[in-house]
Amino acid sequence: MIPVIALVGRPNVGKSTMFNRLTRSRDALVANYAGLTRDRKYGEGEINKRQFIAIDTGGITGDEEGIDSAMAEQSLLAVEEADVVLFLVDSRDGLTAADEMIADHLRVNNKKTYLVANKIDGQNHDVAMAPFYELGLGEVYGTTATQGRGVKSLMEMVLEEFPENVVEDAEEDEAKGIKMAIVGRPNVGKSTLVNRLLGEDRVVVYDMPGTTRDSVYINYERNEKPYTIIDTAGIRRRKNVKESVEKFSIVKTLQAISDANVVVLLVDATEGLVDQDLHLMGHVIDQGRALVVALNKWDGLDNEHKEFVKNELERRLRFVDFADIHFISALHGTGVGHLYESIEQAYSAATDKLTTNHLTRILQDAVATHQPPMVGGHRIKLRYAHAGGKNPPIIVIHGNQTESVPSHYKKFLEKTFRRVLDLHGTPIKLEFKSTD
Ligand code: GDP
Ligand code: GDP
Repeated sequence: MIPVIALVGRPNVGKSTMFNRLTRSRDALVANYAGLTRDRKYGEGEINKRQFIAIDTGGITGDEEGIDSAMAEQSLLAVEEADVVLFLVDSRDGLTAADEMIADHLRVNNKKTYLVANKIDGQNHDVAMAPFYELGLGEVYGTTATQGRGVKSLMEMVLEEFPENVVEDAEEDEAKGIKMAIVGRPNVGKSTLVNRLLGEDRVVVYDMPGTTRDSVYINYERNEKPYTIIDTAGIRRRKNVKESVEKFSIVKTLQAISDANVVVLLVDATEGLVDQDLHLMGHVIDQGRALVVALNKWDGLDNEHKEFVKNELERRLRFVDFADIHFISALHGTGVGHLYESIEQAYSAATDKLTTNHLTRILQDAVATHQPPMVGGHRIKLRYAHAGGKNPPIIVIHGNQTESVPSHYKKFLEKTFRRVLDLHGTPIKLEFKSTD
C-alpha cells in the first residue's frame, strides 16, 4: 500500500505550498464538510519512483481559547488516516504556543512525526532551526517549500521507511486474476454493485479478510476465471466494525486505484457527472490505470433524462475517449454482466506484450505518413520504439531532437499506436529518448 503523509501545522506555515510541491495537485480530491472554508485535500506524489499520498489540512490554530475545533478536527482526521505526519512550523516566527499545543496533540497520537522548520530561506539555518528542538520531537528538518530546498532529501528519508512498491511476480498475479477497483463517490452504488457481482450464479467467492483501514480484497472465480475486487465501500463489514474514519475514504480510493489493474468508476446517473467524478477519472489516468466507466441507477431515469445524460457524457468525457461507458442498474442487475467484456478488453490492452518489431514498424509507418516537424533547420528523426512497461503500456521512442517533439505530434503518434494496437480501455504513455 502506498504510504499516506499528513501535513499539519498552524495556518500560514506553508502546508499548501508544500502540498503543491509534493503532489500533482491539478485534481486534488477534497473531503467536503459543510461550513468549512478549508477542507482536507488529497493528492498523489512520487519521488524516486516511490509513490505516496499527501493530505493537506486546514491547520490547527491553537489559540488561547483552545484549538479551533473545526479545523483541528480536519487535522486530527488526517493524522488518523496517515502513516506519517509532517509537522510544519514557521522558522521565521520561532517557536509559538500554538506549535507547542500541536506537538502535545501529536505526542498523544503516537504517529511517526517529522518536525519540519519551513521558510528557512534567507536565514542562518542552524539559528533558525534551534528553537524547535525544545519541542522534544527529535531532529528538525529545514525546508523552503516555495523553492523546494530540503524537500526531496526529507521525503527520501520519510519514504525510506516503507517497502518499495514491489512488482508482484507474474505467477502470483495470474492466480489472482484481474484486480479491479470499484470506486466512486458516496452512494453511487459501489457496495450494491460489489454484492451484485459476487451474487451471480456462476461466481465462487473465497475468504474475505477484513481490516478497519484498508480496503478489502475479495477473490472469486467466474466461469472458472479468477478475479479480485478491491472493495472500497466495505460491504459486509459495516455492521461489525465501528469505522473511525468516514465511510467514503479518499485514501482508500486512491490506494485502490493505484493497486488495481482496471478501475470501474461508478457514476450516479440520476445526478449526472459532477466535478468529483471527473477528478477521480483524472487520478485514474494519472496513475495510468485501465478504466471502465459505469453510469449506475439507469433504471431511475426517463427517456428524456437518459438523452440528457448521454449528451453530457459526450461533451465532458472527451478526455477519456478510450474508455468504455456502460449504463447499468446495480440494483436490478441490468447490464452488470457486460461490464466483464470491457474489463477483459481493458486489461489485455493494458498488459499485452508489445514487441519491438511491431512498435518500430508502426512508428516508421506513422513517420512516413506524416513527417515530424523541422526544428532549428533539422527534421526531428524518430527511429525505433520498444515497450517500457505495462499497465499502463509505456512506449519508448528513440531518435534525434526528441525533446522538441511538439505536443500535437505526440498526440498523433499516440492515436496511431492506440488504433493499430487496439489499445482500447487504457491510458498509454509515450517516452522519448534522444540517441545523439
Ligand atoms: P498554510 O496556511 O500552512 O497552507 O500556508 P501556505 O502554504 O498558504 O503559505 C503561507 C504563506 O507562506 C504563503 O504566502 C507562502 O507563499 C509562504 N511560504 C510558504 N513556504 C515558504 C517558504 O519556504 N519560504 C517563504 N519565504 N515563504 C513561504
Ligand atoms: P455506495 O456508498 O457507493 O456503496 O452506495 P450503495 O451501494 O450503498 O448505494 C447507495 C444507495 O443507492 C442505496 O440506497 C442503493 O439501494 C441505491 N442504489 C444502488 N444501485 C442502484 C441502482 O442501480 N438503481 C437504483 N435505483 N438505486 C440504486
